Amino acid sequence: MNTESALSAHIEEYLEWIYRLSKEQDEVTTTELARSLKISPASVTGMLRRLAERGLIHHEKYHGITLSDEGRRVAIATIRRHGLLERLLVDVIGVPWHQVDEEAGRLEHYITPEFERRLMQFLGHPKTCPHGQPIDWNEPETNVRLGALQAGDAGAVARIADETPDFLQYVAGVGMIPGARLSVTGRGPFNGPLMVRVGDQDLALGDEVCSKIWVQLD
Ligand SMILES: [Zn+2]
Repeated sequence: MNTESALSAHIEEYLEWIYRLSKEQDEVTTTELARSLKISPASVTGMLRRLAERGLIHHEKYHGITLSDEGRRVAIATIRRHGLLERLLVDVIGVPWHQVDEEAGRLEHYITPEFERRLMQFLGHPKTCPHGQPIDWNEPETNVRLGALQAGDAGAVARIADETPDFLQYVAGVGMIPGARLSVTGRGPFNGPLMVRVGDQDLALGDEVCSKIWVQLD
């Protein structure tokens, strides 16, 4: 691997995470980004300065990090390759769905546009990754966060926004995989857990779980 491609892999990884975080929360902070990238906030700060110099992000002190148009374009292209590679790993190679995020996260920086084009064709132009996340983030979000639902709301699990192995194993264990039907039956007192019926079981879900699951309402 030469230095130029190592550098661009690094840049793509940052832009991808800034984009992913911006979809899940109001403001992307250095702390959040450092946690997602599993590196220290100090090294993130240095890299953010370089990304800003290259015109890929906007970052002003005391304000969140946002992507420039070019930064957004690179992020969305990287996420598209990520989703396609996850599909290849799960659907064709048979890797369990909770183990593919990291592997795809490595490969996504190195495939050529020609390989990507062939993969897209071979997989039959999939709309989502195995966790329900869009392959093409240019399309508008039509799903609603589980935490925003009220008693009586019903729909199907659309996407799981946290692809770490532990979280995916948990949601699969309780049957909350993309396509699964669920309905909200109530909420515990004083803004307590959300009571959700999935299949024939009743679950009491806290805010963290509810913020990471997106639902396509009926
Ligand atoms: Zn995925």
